[in-house]
Amino acid sequence: MTKPLHLEIVTPEKVVVNETVSYVAGPGILGEFGVLPGHLPLLSALVPGKVTYQVGDKRKYAFVGGGFAEVADNKISILAESAEQLEDIDVERARRAYERARKRLSAPTPDIDIVRAEAALNRAIQRLNLVAMK
Ligand code: ATP
Repeated sequence: MTKPLHLEIVTPEKVVVNETVSYVAGPGILGEFGVLPGHLPLLSALVPGKVTYQVGDKRKYAFVGGGFAEVADNKISILAESAEQLEDIDVERARRAYERARKRLSAPTPDIDIVRAEAALNRAIQRLNLVAMK
């Protein structure tokens, strides 16, 4: 019998997910990747987006703000810059982040870091897209 797969999503601040799962999909830098039990070792950079994982008969979702995923010996470790489970996403906060970034990008002043504002906008959009799936 195949060994169960273990998923851990950690950030510098907290452990966000620590579960036995039967499937994981994540936002790899080269596109979405899927992991089933028995997967070969893998190391991938992640872009901000959605992690999907199956716990028993329940499909769950989390946001990751970029980072790295490593698959080895039926364990998938995601080291994320920031992450929340779908239920923990604060919609109003994401909306505020979206508006802030939009405002900065629509009328940039010399002190605005465009790349940073674009990254913040992207994180807010990814969080809002995830919440919209509920
Ligand atoms: P903000 O400007 O609102 O902080 P951000 O995209 O810059 O948004 P991150 O750098 O991705 O935030 O994350 C910083 C911390 O705040 C992390 O702990 C992350 O989990 C948390 N966080 C950010 N936005 C939200 C949100 N909408 N709901 C819940 N937690 C959030």
